[in-house]
Amino acid sequence: MQPSVSIRDLSLNFGNVKVLEHLNLDIAQGEFIVLLGPSGCGKSTLLNCVAGLLDVSDGQIFINGKNVTWLEPKDRGIGMVFQSYALYPQMSVEKNLSFGLRVAGMPKDEINRRVQRAAEILQIQPLLQRKPANLSGGQRQRVAIGRALVRDVDVFLFDEPLSNLDAKLRSDLRVEIKRLHQRLKNTMIYVTHDQIEALTLADRIAIMKNGVIQQLADPHTIYNKPVNLYVAGFIGSPS
Ligand code: ADP
Ligand code: MG
Repeated sequence: MQPSVSIRDLSLNFGNVKVLEHLNLDIAQGEFIVLLGPSGCGKSTLLNCVAGLLDVSDGQIFINGKNVTWLEPKDRGIGMVFQSYALYPQMSVEKNLSFGLRVAGMPKDEINRRVQRAAEILQIQPLLQRKPANLSGGQRQRVAIGRALVRDVDVFLFDEPLSNLDAKLRSDLRVEIKRLHQRLKNTMIYVTHDQIEALTLADRIAIMKNGVIQQLADPHTIYNKPVNLYVAGFIGSPS
């Protein structure tokens, strides 16, 4: 089957600094991939390349077989959720959810249908008329996920979406993201430096170091058979 996302020989330099080097990654339709590694290893850079927020220095990115390397973010069929919520403070939750669809000129009925569905999935129906300032951190992050959800995209990109939340909320939302994936069955690329998130969410984990994938495998294999000391130190049991 054609991969959902295919990253081919991708390199990215900031000036003279090589942040990603000849990186290859094929992600299956519906797969939940976690990019895991310490701060500064290039996770966000890789995600931003897939999203189209950064220009690659070399290589290609395909989504559903289409070369999107030089397409605008909005034309890639992806939805992105960041660590900070990036909600419009002056707009209600409902308006935050529908904004992109209204700009795109979607008919009102369809917008309403999608907003209601997202609100139902994320259990934020009672919050639709509130402003972001009147929401908790967890509620705001649900709205941020909702904004990706209403776009009905094939591929979701998450960049440390739970890092700003306290431990209890983090584990609640982790469960919810898992449920969301089981329900939608779309492809997810999820960046984190949190081992527990990686082990509980991923179909496969890509462990990164200095812009290179050290090991790509299912959580059980990563945990029990780390390929090197770096992976073992970061996540696996000592071997
Ligand atoms: P991670 O998300 O894994 O913490 P990043 O992808 O944000 O790592 O960063 C990878 C490396 O690229 C880091 O060394 C960081 O300092 C560097 N970097 C990130 N963004 C820029 C930028 N806009 N200009 C220069 N260097 C950058
Ligand atoms: Mg990052």
